[in-house]
Amino acid sequence: MKDVLLVGLGLAGIAMCERLLAEGKTFDVYENGSQTSSKVAGGLYNPVILKRFTLAWNADTQLAQAVPFYQAIEEKLNIAIDDKLKVLRRFASIEEQNLWFEAADRPRLKQLLNNQIHKNRNDGIAADKGFGEVLKTGKIDTANLQQAYTSYLEGLNCISRATFDYNALQIKADAFEFKGTNYKKIIFAEGFGLKKNPFFNYLPLNGTKGELLTIKAPNLKEESVIKSSCFIIPLGGDYYRVGATYKWKDKTNMPTEAAKEELITKLRTFLTSEFEVVDHVAGIRPTVTDRRPLVGSHPKFNNMYVLNGFGSRGVLLAPYASQQLFDFIYKQSSLNPEIDIARFSKKYFVN
Ligand SMILES: Cc1cc2nc3c(=O)[nH]c(=O)nc-3n(C[C@H](O)[C@H](O)[C@H](O)COP(=O)(O)OP(=O)(O)OC[C@H]3O[C@@H](n4cnc5c(N)ncnc54)[C@H](O)[C@@H]3O)c2cc1C
Repeated sequence: MKDVLLVGLGLAGIAMCERLLAEGKTFDVYENGSQTSSKVAGGLYNPVILKRFTLAWNADTQLAQAVPFYQAIEEKLNIAIDDKLKVLRRFASIEEQNLWFEAADRPRLKQLLNNQIHKNRNDGIAADKGFGEVLKTGKIDTANLQQAYTSYLEGLNCISRATFDYNALQIKADAFEFKGTNYKKIIFAEGFGLKKNPFFNYLPLNGTKGELLTIKAPNLKEESVIKSSCFIIPLGGDYYRVGATYKWKDKTNMPTEAAKEELITKLRTFLTSEFEVVDHVAGIRPTVTDRRPLVGSHPKFNNMYVLNGFGSRGVLLAPYASQQLFDFIYKQSSLNPEIDIARFSKKYFVN
């Protein structure tokens, strides 16, 4: 009998594995590559919503947990995934500068917004009103993390690169049997793949498609993340990630010409440097109607759990939400009610 069967090895699954390993729990993971959100993500962690200059939900708490969390993985796997990039918000007007100053005066934002205007010194970018600098930001190389973590679990002999077949799960009184092995608990962390999960597909996971380009811009020479009508994220060399789009109808992981055109048009509003597009990726963010994660236990089946709904903030949310779930399962702590799926239990019983 193993402790846990875990489905999905995106940011949610990886964070859950870390919690389980830290407490000596035994587990197996199933991962089939059907969702690409963690693979393609820009990977930024930034506690501030740059449209309105407000703190993202609970983001100061999450940030304090996330930075040491990824650092511990870097040390354990001997990889470099946390690039402490500056994030610069381009101002489009004097009004925006004033809003920034007001925000930088608020108690919880003081530590996170630099109250000096950062002048533009890059000829490749049009920004005559300058930038506001967000503090304590960075970028996790989520693709590298996912790849390295998969290899690590292969070394521990506890990952199957296979589709988890929901129909093959046998639910027993105090355990689950899957492919001849018994597990005390099962945790689902399939991202948008949750839609195919017959146990949890009553949850209001919408999914928002996002696309990103990689461009080569040899003359740009920018070392900070620039946020204007879209993000430019330096990757090193002359390469930059540009994104992302938000689309609610198309739920495929296929890149589209329309998104490419949209990003190029946005980019040209502030990037004057020459560039060429060298790559284009897409994924579905696991977004929820009320914009809070989906964490907790199934309304009917004991010992069956979900860890999902990280939307566009998986890097910051995964360490926090996985700790919440672990403590809920093993330490009888209560979940933060804002993330607890108990808030949707009516939907389960109506269906
Ligand atoms: C374009 C884009 C840009 C983004 N940029 C950022 C960013 O800058 N910062 C940030 O914090 N977040 C960003 N995000 C959001 C972030 O990617 C997500 O919040 C996060 O990756 C979700 O992680 P997850 O593990 O819940 O889901 P996923 O990454 O989707 O992982 C779920 C995993 O489960 C597997 N799976 C599903 N069903 C099954 C099954 N039946 N059997 C086996 N395996 C299964 C899938 O293959 C997948 O690997 C971005 C997302 C997109 C699409």
